[in-house]
Amino acid sequence: MTERTLAIIKPDAVRKNVSGEIIAMITQAGFKILGFKMIRISEAQAGEFYAVHKERPFYGELVSFMSSGAIVPIALEKENAIADYRALIGATDPAEAAEGTIRKAFASSKGENAVHGSDSAENGRNEIAFFFSESELVANQA
Ligand code: GDP
Repeated sequence: MTERTLAIIKPDAVRKNVSGEIIAMITQAGFKILGFKMIRISEAQAGEFYAVHKERPFYGELVSFMSSGAIVPIALEKENAIADYRALIGATDPAEAAEGTIRKAFASSKGENAVHGSDSAENGRNEIAFFFSESELVANQA
């Protein structure tokens, strides 16, 4: 089934100047890019995006990190996009990420782990809508 997922290149990876390498890994894995942009979000916006983690001990750190610099949200489409993109990025903690994954290559720590990926098709749709209007996504649709 064709699915959509939201990738985000996080501030640590943008600062390391590896956004291009990460986008290349994503497209080489067969994902179609429906939209991408480079933006900086406020702490309030980061808090809203990660509201599901509000009770977790790392929430404050996560919100402050995600608003600490530019990020690159990318709307992706592919058969089986959710599972395939999660496999491409690897485990949350880079120490546990498999060889060949984006986090193995570029993540620094469990918090500063280079990329985000949606964890379900429903969250994929909602997270894409958080960053993109429909009119920003139509350009690359067949
Ligand atoms: P993901 O789906 O692999 O991104 O992982 P989670 O949904 O569990 O966590 C969301 C994000 O919170 C992760 O990608 C990390 O950026 C951050 N995070 C998770 N665990 C920790 C932690 O123990 N410490 C810190 N500082 N951040 C964490």
